[in-house]
Amino acid sequence: MIRTVAIKTLGCRLNQAESETIRFDLEQRGLQVVQANMPADLVVINSCAVTQAAEAKMRGAIAAVRRTAPDALIAVVGCAAYLGAERLRQMPAVKLILGNSEKNNLPQYLPRVEAGETIVALDDLEESPAVFKPTDKKLHPERIRVLLKVQDGCDYHCSYCVVPHLRGEPRSRPLTECISEVKQLVAHGCQEVVLTGINLGLYQTAEGDLTTLVERILTETDLPRLRLSSIEPDLVTPQLITLMRSNNRLCQHWHIPLQYGTDAILRQMRRRYTTAFYSDLVQRIKDNLPAACVGADVMVGYPGETTEAFEEMRGFLQKLALDYLHVFRYSPRPYTSSIQNRESITSAEKKRRSQILINLSAQKRRHFRSQFIGQILTILFEEQVGPMEWQGLSGNYLTVRVFHKDNLLNKIFQVRIIGESGNVLKGEIVSE
Ligand code: SF4
Repeated sequence: MIRTVAIKTLGCRLNQAESETIRFDLEQRGLQVVQANMPADLVVINSCAVTQAAEAKMRGAIAAVRRTAPDALIAVVGCAAYLGAERLRQMPAVKLILGNSEKNNLPQYLPRVEAGETIVALDDLEESPAVFKPTDKKLHPERIRVLLKVQDGCDYHCSYCVVPHLRGEPRSRPLTECISEVKQLVAHGCQEVVLTGINLGLYQTAEGDLTTLVERILTETDLPRLRLSSIEPDLVTPQLITLMRSNNRLCQHWHIPLQYGTDAILRQMRRRYTTAFYSDLVQRIKDNLPAACVGADVMVGYPGETTEAFEEMRGFLQKLALDYLHVFRYSPRPYTSSIQNRESITSAEKKRRSQILINLSAQKRRHFRSQFIGQILTILFEEQVGPMEWQGLSGNYLTVRVFHKDNLLNKIFQVRIIGESGNVLKGEIVSE
């Protein structure tokens, strides 16, 4: 009998949003969802296949369950479930293997799993990549910050990326539905919504695009804070920048994937911009929004990467006014065009180069953080980290801690930044 469930989420923010939906559904059916690392009758691994490392994490998570809770049943869902179904089928503890469009139906399969069946339900992406079940329409549970899935799928087909194969064609959740869910979330006490999608900038419905969606959420709801997740460089519109300038409820935080720092490799990757376009975009954002945090994904070890190309990228990144980097190491993925190209560096060299960029990112983060000492930031408090010590996030993505005798959870305050300690800023409350 399955009474308790733990959900372990790997990969992107969309997966996190989908895990929340699964959690909500399970709880609606009377099951107890425990923390990801707690023992449970069923462990759901919501997997990622964007790199080989992400797939290895899924295998590591299965091994950890087998070690620590040998009697637990395991469900593997999402991208790596689809790609690794054959291997997963051979593992007796794995009772449920569900692709992306089936994972929202997970609770419905549980009676059959309890009866001893092993179930494999994958998306038939080969035949019709656009055919997906509708996106989730469930209200998320009470949360301070909610990742709201408004878009799925991508048709950019970057040379290294398996995601379009796994997630299908772009499609968007109707705008009025998004707004009514935000209203319900606000009524449940939610303070911040993060709009999430596989390629969020492709959000498009008959009622409007992403800018319209953002504008209408800001005007038609009382949501205190709205944040955008990752957005492709060619899809950042001047209107979005202007909206952020004119409305302080829209968080000044941009995550704009760059992927590589030379034009030759960007072309090979089939990215839709040049280094000049990207650097102009970052500069335009900083000119309009000097306090905005701008971060990027970058990849090392793409096939054909030479020492010179890497050095050119490093120089480019050093000069760019970015505030952090998410560094990935290239790995060949099935169903991608770059899989045909031989990798030019060893995995040890890839690791060394990625460490160089991770160090650069740490420098950039420090530089960004220190600019705010002495300034006032608006903080949403999310966690108690010690006796009378509370931690929260600013709109521009800085972690801030304050000491205060009252419970600050789920509250927004103006905080004066008085110093820093490690990766966090220290502050004191000025006013609500
Ligand atoms: S934009 Fe490129 S990297 Fe991003 S999901 Fe689409 S194909 Fe993948």
